[in-house]
Amino acid sequence: MRQVPYVNFRAQFEEERSEILGAVEDVFTTGQFVSDAAVAKFEQELADYIGVKHAIALNSGTDALLLGMKAIGIGPGDEVITPPNSFVASTAAIVLLGATPVFADVRDDQNIDPDAVAAALTPRTKAIMPVHLTGRMADMRPLMQLAEKHGLAVIEDAAQSVGSLYEGRQAGTFGLISCFSAHPLKNLNAAGDGGFVTTDDDAIASKIQLLRNHGLIDRNTVAVWGTVSRMDVLQSEFLRVRLKRLDSVIERRRRNAENYRQLLADAPVFIPPDRNFEFNTFHVFVIQTDRRDELQKHLADNGVGTAIHYPIPIHLQPAARELGHRRGDFPVTERQADRILSLPINQFLTEDDQAYVAENIKTFLG
Ligand SMILES: *Cc1c(COP(=O)(O)O)cnc(C)c1O
Repeated sequence: MRQVPYVNFRAQFEEERSEILGAVEDVFTTGQFVSDAAVAKFEQELADYIGVKHAIALNSGTDALLLGMKAIGIGPGDEVITPPNSFVASTAAIVLLGATPVFADVRDDQNIDPDAVAAALTPRTKAIMPVHLTGRMADMRPLMQLAEKHGLAVIEDAAQSVGSLYEGRQAGTFGLISCFSAHPLKNLNAAGDGGFVTTDDDAIASKIQLLRNHGLIDRNTVAVWGTVSRMDVLQSEFLRVRLKRLDSVIERRRRNAENYRQLLADAPVFIPPDRNFEFNTFHVFVIQTDRRDELQKHLADNGVGTAIHYPIPIHLQPAARELGHRRGDFPVTERQADRILSLPINQFLTEDDQAYVAENIKTFLG
């Protein structure tokens, strides 16, 4: 039986073996494992790629959200509007800073609905945090207009969307801060945890640099209480290798998505269409069907790995009990949580793999 794995880290390593091993050799030879100067090379290349003034490398996407929001002053008494269908870190970071997450439901494409955001505004609203889920950017034009009109900060959770575009502009160039992840499952992936914030604001960038390094302004002087959230030099060197390949990774994932669209054109599944003003990088490729659980099992029985991003909406998690939500509060998100299935979309799929996945879906759904 054919095996179509959801991810294929082994194949990724084979493609880049000599460069990765060269990076390991260099880092161990210099002995610089933690070094702002060494990581700055990656930060500059990344800032140039995204088209921002600053990229600040951190040790996870979650820390990018935490330190980024701390640096812009999000704290107790502030409300931050965000969707309930993200990875849990978007909401957790708001709560951990003592602020209040206020959820706004999403649209067909799984991204936050600007009308729902408008309806969720209160005098305490301090920021809007759209999440560019699946590799497709949220509808930034109306969101930026709302933010401008009401004097709110925009925080992009771009963890899933490095390289994505909206009206020709990259993810990470809209928000006051934008937060990215380099987790192994993301399109620009480290060999472990990693993340970064992008911003055009010098003061915010400096603040995050302080916070990630114990608040130290020199070896012995602590200017503010900080933490340790630096990116390791090994990870930044791996990411420099992979940043050079990112456009190729994205192109291959987009080609796979286009193949699926054709292969599944007559299948009874919903796939949100691509709109002409967006460039989707397909961190995940999601189909929607009422028979999701059975289909997932059928695919697993036939060697096809799939995933669900995410089966339990954040407002229905045990940790969210204190927020006082119940089933029915965000019906679009809840319905999608029961219907979404992420197909393998990794850059190593062959056309035969994809045809096999599509055939299995079509025979099963009839
Ligand atoms: C992955 C992810 C995060 C968290 O990133 P980590 O690097 O795992 O901490 C935050 N938000 C979204 C939408 C994500 O997909």
